[in-house]
Amino acid sequence: MTERWASVQNRLLASLPSSDRALLTPHLQRISFKADTVLVRSDDELRDVYFLHSGAVAFMLDMPDGQTVATTLVGPEGAVGSLSALGPSVSPVTVLARVAGTASHITAANFQSAYMQSPAIRQIVQVHTRALLLQLQHVAACNALHSVERRMARWLLQLHDIISDRRLPLTQEALAQLLGVRRTTVTQAVARLREAGAIKSDRRGLIEVHPARLDGLACECYAMVQTRIARMYDQELSESGLATGPAQVTRATHPRQLGRRGAK
Ligand SMILES: [Zn+2]
Repeated sequence: MTERWASVQNRLLASLPSSDRALLTPHLQRISFKADTVLVRSDDELRDVYFLHSGAVAFMLDMPDGQTVATTLVGPEGAVGSLSALGPSVSPVTVLARVAGTASHITAANFQSAYMQSPAIRQIVQVHTRALLLQLQHVAACNALHSVERRMARWLLQLHDIISDRRLPLTQEALAQLLGVRRTTVTQAVARLREAGAIKSDRRGLIEVHPARLDGLACECYAMVQTRIARMYDQELSESGLATGPAQVTRATHPRQLGRRGAK
């Protein structure tokens, strides 16, 4: 099955000129994934590339004692496995679907072939890779400097912005995995956010967020990172003439993100 470009929502794919996109089109297959689906396992060779159209995936670092911690979330602005274009790569993380969605899938071999032929495809890989590195550096600083409560508020805001829904399908177990902390710590942080009116949670595992209140409790990391990434995407995809695709994803230029405190 080939792609239907009218329904493409992935920002990287949508920003490619049609002649470059044509190198990928015959090889792309639309897939859907459920929450908790593992797209890539840690230490496995990257054999596939996924461009998300909806939903959200978490890059999870697995520790030897069984604990996990999220290093980043990726949604329709990004991809999974794109670095395989540089040659055989082993994944340092497990990529887990946090929210169900859809993606366009291509084998690493076919993607690498297109990558070698197209400066525009090399450009989107480069921009996305730098955006990921920026996020990873900030997450390292955030984990060292900021409280669990503020970090939780940051993850909740990021997931809310990716999926455009105030109701987030997150159990306390999933939050513990994202944050790399014990369930009891999550329970305490959830209670504090709830008392502040920033979230409501129910027994079905849905957390309903109040973005403005959550914003007041989150650390400044998220606004800083999103503003820098939005600027990078807008300038570098536009400057190279790439931002002319059929369907632009606007998450990275969400006005609330750009207008948030701490945004510089
Ligand atoms: Zn932080």
